[in-house]
Amino acid sequence: RAFEDAGLHPIMLENVKLCQYSVPTAIQAYCLPAVLTGHDVVAVAQTGSGKTAAFLIPILSRLMGKARQLAAPRPNPGRYNPLTDRVRAEPLVLVVCPTRELACQIFDEARRLCYRTMLRPCVIYGGAPSKNQREQLELGCDILVATPGRLMDFMQNLNLLSFSRLKFTVIDEADELLSTGWEEAMEKLFQGSDTNDDADHTYLMFSATFPKSARKMTREYMEEDHVRI
Ligand code: AMP
Repeated sequence: RAFEDAGLHPIMLENVKLCQYSVPTAIQAYCLPAVLTGHDVVAVAQTGSGKTAAFLIPILSRLMGKARQLAAPRPNPGRYNPLTDRVRAEPLVLVVCPTRELACQIFDEARRLCYRTMLRPCVIYGGAPSKNQREQLELGCDILVATPGRLMDFMQNLNLLSFSRLKFTVIDEADELLSTGWEEAMEKLFQGSDTNDDADHTYLMFSATFPKSARKMTREYMEEDHVRI
């Protein structure tokens, strides 16, 4: 299978070429058609398999078709005062992963794949001051890549995020996240993103292993007939 035959948005196809990806990896060959046709995906994938592009390429390609209507409103520079005005970010895509390094890698890849589109990625993670991350969010955020601690802080304590426009939720390295005490938070997140009544909300979960906790989440939140392991 080739990227050219996958039915990608023309800009995405160009960005894939700019990344110098010529042949889809196995996980990409599996994920692209599934996500492009609106299916939830559960996949066993190791780092190095090309799993980041496997979810970013089809998700962003779908959004590119509607980027002009969907992209977050950008603040009007003449009227917006970053010191006093608080704008809640309303991402279309949320990617949660366990570490800062992974979050930054996913963000980098998202930036490359969003090249020449209206879609704007942002990254938030712990272990660094939140001021700059907050300012980046306020400039408009369509794709949010986050580690769980900072995500919960921005959501619950600072009320900086709204999931009313959310269309895709990706949990990356789910086994790591669930085994490090984030199980309850992830469940809340899945429940929360369910509340905007968006029947076409897509969930994706990637994991190196599938412990019981991960299997439970896929059973509860993902459409049964669309889950493939
Ligand atoms: P990941 O598994 O997402 O961490 O990706 C591992 C590496 O493979 C990253 O450096 C990607 O840029 C690269 N990569 C992803 N997809 C492809 C592809 N189709 N062809 C060549 N390299 C790729």
